[in-house]
Amino acid sequence: MPLEEDIDNLIRIIALKNSVEHEGKAQADAVIAKFIGSRPDKRSTIKTLIPEIRSIVQSINNMSLAEQTSMLEKLAPEQLVKKQAVESAPSLPPLEGAIMGQVVTRFPPEPNGYPHIGHAKAAIIDEEYARMYNGKLILRFDDTNPLKEKLEYYDAIREGLDWLGVKPDIVKNTSDDISLIQEYGRKLVELGGAYVCTCSQQTMHDLRAKGLPCECRKDQSEALSRLEKLFNGSYKQNEAIIRFKGDMADQNTAMRDPTLFRIIEGDHPKLGSKIRVWPTYDFAAPIEDSLDGVTHAMRTKEYELRNALYFAILDRLGLRKPMMIEFSRLEFEGIPVSKRKIKPLIENGLIKSWDDPRLPTLSAFRRRGFVPEAIRKFVISLGITLAETKPPFEALEAYNRKVIDPVSMRLFFVKDPVELHVEGARAMEVVLKNHPTDAALGSRKIQVSDRFYISSDDTNLNVGDEIRLIELYNVKITKIERKDGKVLSVSAMPSGSEIQQSMPKIQWVAKEDIFDLQVLTPKQLYIGEEYNTNSLEVVKGVTESFMSGLKHGTVVQFVRFGFCRIDSDGTAIFTHR
Ligand code: ATP
Ligand code: MG
Repeated sequence: MPLEEDIDNLIRIIALKNSVEHEGKAQADAVIAKFIGSRPDKRSTIKTLIPEIRSIVQSINNMSLAEQTSMLEKLAPEQLVKKQAVESAPSLPPLEGAIMGQVVTRFPPEPNGYPHIGHAKAAIIDEEYARMYNGKLILRFDDTNPLKEKLEYYDAIREGLDWLGVKPDIVKNTSDDISLIQEYGRKLVELGGAYVCTCSQQTMHDLRAKGLPCECRKDQSEALSRLEKLFNGSYKQNEAIIRFKGDMADQNTAMRDPTLFRIIEGDHPKLGSKIRVWPTYDFAAPIEDSLDGVTHAMRTKEYELRNALYFAILDRLGLRKPMMIEFSRLEFEGIPVSKRKIKPLIENGLIKSWDDPRLPTLSAFRRRGFVPEAIRKFVISLGITLAETKPPFEALEAYNRKVIDPVSMRLFFVKDPVELHVEGARAMEVVLKNHPTDAALGSRKIQVSDRFYISSDDTNLNVGDEIRLIELYNVKITKIERKDGKVLSVSAMPSGSEIQQSMPKIQWVAKEDIFDLQVLTPKQLYIGEEYNTNSLEVVKGVTESFMSGLKHGTVVQFVRFGFCRIDSDGTAIFTHR
């Protein structure tokens, strides 16, 4: 049986990516696992797909690496962590219909949570276009639901954007215009383009499914008196709403008389409890965009069906229409890039704070040692495509590495330390450069004796092996003490200083110079649909005492381990390799 086109496509993309990452040979098992990860809905029927997956993998393995790369480039360019792209500055394509000096864009977050990398994508694209055309960027807090919004979140969004270096020309709240928006709502009812509906949710649900109008829509004689009642407080919450007069039988379900206003009793962070009739996003967004002079309204693709409503509202009110541009939502495999998904994790206590390093929030990226410049380049490299595939997290890491590598000190960290005794080694002071090429990063002095720590990961050794202690000397293993298969200690003797290609070259810490360090290492939060209970690994080890003099917030590169940002005394957070 031939595969559905989207499934076939997805499998090809996964297989090509796997192959390109492994010198041109994809592994069927890895491809199957990845596929289930992206399409957990297919888990139960995976058996029927396996032969197809194997045959796709085989056909791809018959291609050359160059052919595979160019095919992946065609099918899913965002999957290629392009070396030259990381090297050069990416840029966005020209904006349709843009006139120099007249472009107005806006970034409209709802202050109902902390900003994440998806918001960074939207805000950076909005800002880049405003700058490209010498125009303006509006930051508009889309705050029309008093039950969800909090001052804390407005502040968090401002802070996140500041950190990113996104500088809006105008900052406003949708709630600033609440009276005006209500006026337009009334006007729309008066014009017969909307009506006050008192039907129950169940009634509307059933009528929608049947494609039939309700009594409130049919009988307009009371529309205006109901409108008065709505605004003078005669209705309670859920007793009446304003609906757009669309078409209950429209193919596009978003046009089946959607809600434009509802009564919400609550304390709004800016307006308190004086406003009760609140517009929905569907109504407030087009009115605000139009009145704010927005020329290019950009939003994510999931709103696609609602574009018709957006323009119909402006049409009926005779308001100017901005151009609408869509791009895909940014998602990463196993990481929820959405406040809606992050908030419950925090509310359930699975995650303690919005800056937990496993989260894709801006505060978490900052805490992990990601820099704004890298996030911006990464976002621009994604462009404004509608591609459904998730970019690899490694692409973001590659941009970040490019920025932090030249400015981070190289230090030694020894995970899960095992003692190394170098018999007969003399005590001395060694001076190590903090960076191989940048002398400005200085150097450090370390007192070494005959006792060291090396990582248990590096103790897969045999007596007689020669290893290089990086930047020090070579030693020859003389004894390995083991218990229950675990190496307890290693003895060696000095064996010269000439570096041989074949020697394992490992980092070390002098026994008299240690600083205990734990490294919080974030892993994917979800494996498929399942919360990963091991998503925050704590790696314990020792580093050099030099570390104690470094400020919190400093990013260092632990040789053969990866980049880490110092979070607090004795704790660092793993950035990436
Ligand atoms: P969330 O699920 O995080 O609440 P949202 O779309 O409801 O998402 P808003 O605060 O309303 O969040 O979003 C503000 C802007 O950011 C919108 O224009 C939205 O399209 C964009 N945006 C939100 N999430 C993403 C994402 N993951 N990728 C790209 N853009 C996003
Ligand atoms: Mg929203």
